[in-house]
Amino acid sequence: MANSSGLDNLVPWYDSNNDFKDLSNFNMPDISEILTVTPATTVKTPVMPPPPTDQQFPSLNEAMKAINNFTRAYGYTLISQRSKADKETGEKKTVYLRCDRGGKFIPKVNDDARIKSRTSRCVECPFSAVLDYNIVSGWGLRIRELSHNHDPSLITTHPSLRHDELVKKQQQIEAQLYLGTPAHKILEVLKKEDLETSIKPQDIHNLCQILHRKFLDGCTLIQALLTILPEEGKWIFNWRADHHVPVPEAGDDFEESAMITAMPLLNIVGHTATGGTFYIGFTFIQDEKQNTYKFVLNCLRDVYDKLNLVPPRTVLVDKDKALINALKQVFPETNVMLCIWHINHNFLAKARPMIRKELVEIHSIDDPNFDKQVHEKWQQMQHLWMKVVNTATIQEKNEIWREFKQEYSDELYQPVVDYLESEWLEPDTA
Ligand SMILES: [Zn+2]
Repeated sequence: MANSSGLDNLVPWYDSNNDFKDLSNFNMPDISEILTVTPATTVKTPVMPPPPTDQQFPSLNEAMKAINNFTRAYGYTLISQRSKADKETGEKKTVYLRCDRGGKFIPKVNDDARIKSRTSRCVECPFSAVLDYNIVSGWGLRIRELSHNHDPSLITTHPSLRHDELVKKQQQIEAQLYLGTPAHKILEVLKKEDLETSIKPQDIHNLCQILHRKFLDGCTLIQALLTILPEEGKWIFNWRADHHVPVPEAGDDFEESAMITAMPLLNIVGHTATGGTFYIGFTFIQDEKQNTYKFVLNCLRDVYDKLNLVPPRTVLVDKDKALINALKQVFPETNVMLCIWHINHNFLAKARPMIRKELVEIHSIDDPNFDKQVHEKWQQMQHLWMKVVNTATIQEKNEIWREFKQEYSDELYQPVVDYLESEWLEPDTA
């Protein structure tokens, strides 16, 4: 080899003048010695270097942003500790920074179980720096003490970094929250955009709570609804207050106030000839008593009148006496019928255990066809019951009902027969 000086420098044990000499006698160095790094050398490596001090920033905000953009890559963050202002202008001219683990260590307190125990993250880290303002060059950084007394930590454990990132991405997260996107989905997107994101699910939940409170502006949920109804959409609405509900004041337990005002929602839907349903109205009601239903139905009647609609010919309801009575008062010209879905739902809940009981005595419950047999028996029973429901005249209904009772005359079925007779065959609901 003509010139091998460069190689000689890099690999001093390689004899470049004897490229093809027998390597069997060559004394190879022990690679394990080269690769073994003693712990003492790692401790000395600057794993948490201080931010560069050769840059100037036009504003304090930009300086802090750049500093923490740097520190987050090394698992620590700096926060402002105190500042000095210019005596004449009153503007900040010196800001002292410390590591966010630099505060006083507060040990875990467990003495009183009622007090939530918290261990402070602060470990009195000595790192210290100063940001100075110069009218010509702007803000510049000086390091006063560059050592830390702790290891780097995950960026998710630094509240100030999480806060900064949250502020930066707040608009994006807010837009998703308004669309009803769940927190874990929002986080998935944030992680796709930035694998190193420090935002935690808890941050999104907290933001959601803050937005919710801001939206309510001290009102209860129902009060807030009354505020936005006139502003959004063309709703015809009405309301009345039965009780004085105190507006929660700042500092009140928000959750508790929200719970007190939780009200059941009554949906009013229409049914098309093709079997579809459409919404007619929504009502939050104080209780399920006749007077409350009467108020709701009067409001509905007003809507029919305002829109010049003919009152409904038939209304289907579940077995709610209060609602049925209110309907008869407010819509006297309307037929009130029990909804067959509700009837069958309740009927099945009552009858199924009895059918199982009967069949268990004949077949084994371990029989793989047992459930099928129960289902077949239920279908027979339901078929006969539907014949009762679908009769055209009272006389016909009585006849088929007698047939039903005869078919299920066994004492075992007495409760289901009694239930159907008393609950669904009364003259006022049939
Ligand atoms: Zn530190």
